[in-house]
Amino acid sequence: MTTSIVLGAGMVGVSTALALQEAGHQVVLIDRNAPGRETSYGNAGIIQTEAVEPYAFPRSMREIASVALRRGNDVDWRLRDLPQLAGPLWRYFSRSAPAPYAETVATYSRLVLRASVDHARYIKPAGADELIVRRGWRAVYRSAAKYEAAAINAERLKNTYGVQSEVLGPSELTASEPALRRRLAGAVHWISPWTCRDPGELVARYAALFAARGGALARGDATTLAQDGAGWRVISQDGAVTAQNAVVALGPWSPILLKRFGYNVPMVFKRGYHRHFATHDGPSISMLDVDNSTVISPMNAGCRVLTGAHMAPPGAPVASRQIRRAVDAACELFALSAPLEEVPWSGTRPCMPDMLPVVGPSRQKGLWFHFGHGHQGFTLGPTTALLLAEQIAGTSTNPLAQPLLPSARNWA
Ligand SMILES: Cc1cc2nc3c(=O)[nH]c(=O)nc-3n(C[C@H](O)[C@H](O)[C@H](O)COP(=O)(O)OP(=O)(O)OC[C@H]3O[C@@H](n4cnc5c(N)ncnc54)[C@H](O)[C@@H]3O)c2cc1C
Repeated sequence: MTTSIVLGAGMVGVSTALALQEAGHQVVLIDRNAPGRETSYGNAGIIQTEAVEPYAFPRSMREIASVALRRGNDVDWRLRDLPQLAGPLWRYFSRSAPAPYAETVATYSRLVLRASVDHARYIKPAGADELIVRRGWRAVYRSAAKYEAAAINAERLKNTYGVQSEVLGPSELTASEPALRRRLAGAVHWISPWTCRDPGELVARYAALFAARGGALARGDATTLAQDGAGWRVISQDGAVTAQNAVVALGPWSPILLKRFGYNVPMVFKRGYHRHFATHDGPSISMLDVDNSTVISPMNAGCRVLTGAHMAPPGAPVASRQIRRAVDAACELFALSAPLEEVPWSGTRPCMPDMLPVVGPSRQKGLWFHFGHGHQGFTLGPTTALLLAEQIAGTSTNPLAQPLLPSARNWA
């Protein structure tokens, strides 16, 4: 029987463990923490089957100036972090030019469109149906001009990719969200996505399914990874674990480990923040206040208010500007009480410059990469895990797998 170690028990690692187990491997899933307690805990919990076109680096002078001057709430950055960020950001800018971006979208859209089908393979067996809401989510607009442009774009996505949406005028929006405190210009309701009322718990249930099917969960430090004869070894709290394969699924921590193996991964670190509020008068389904880049998601823990991207390398100090503005925006829309946590949560979207996750073999035999899912790792974990399992089995003929390979990147 093939043996495999999966390093990292976020959505990506847990999905990898399940997929390899289904392919007949004996799998040990290792994390320093319990499953689903990091980035896969703190996200907006949307299985984003509408996100067919990933976030590109702005290309127009107007948009670049807005980011540079930090006019909006979508992107934040600090001068002192620029030397560390510049290289990956330059690659991100280059890969966002029309031709390479079109190549990315051709792959990305096909991955995203199948994401809920791939999650469905685990949701019921994991007993997690009660965490999933199948009512889509809404992007809301405060200005008529932006709303009208969004409606046109939604129509384009419907015609191009078959992404289903409904456009709601101000009165329809008020009727469907009676707790809204002010009249807005309108909304695009993305109908097909699913949302999760506790993203970390969904990962924990997937991990429990893996364990119930005979998989082993262990606590350990991934940085102890070393070659061991023809295979790999990691030190866990229960002792050394050895296997033929090791999969690096450490999300934003993957570059730290891989430096030791000779890889300089040009990850773009996009940090996000959230806070919870106790309220029964929040939105009935997740809502993005586009003008403030603020997501408001009804969760089991309360109403979760989330921010856009703070371009922050690992270890950079917390910046509170975005979350303050996000909370102010959310309070304009809904009656929120005091925050439930003392300090906002923060976690990092592990983005790659070409906006595609890295899935496939490394230069070292038996060492596999599975990270870099950026804004949609909660969505895509099960999908890319299946692609990776096919590659490890040597049966992959899927053309979707090709652009995701480490060897398709010039840094690997
Ligand atoms: C604010 C915000 C909102 C988001 N909203 C969405 C959304 O709505 N939909 C969506 O699809 N995506 C969303 N995302 C993105 C998504 O959360 C991530 O892409 C995804 O969680 C990445 O999963 P992962 O498993 O790669 O990483 P993680 O979940 O971070 O897992 C990595 C694991 O590695 C472990 N680890 C790290 N170092 C070590 C070590 N040395 N030893 C052992 N273990 C280690 C960590 O403990 C962790 O469990 C959002 C992200 C943010 C920040």
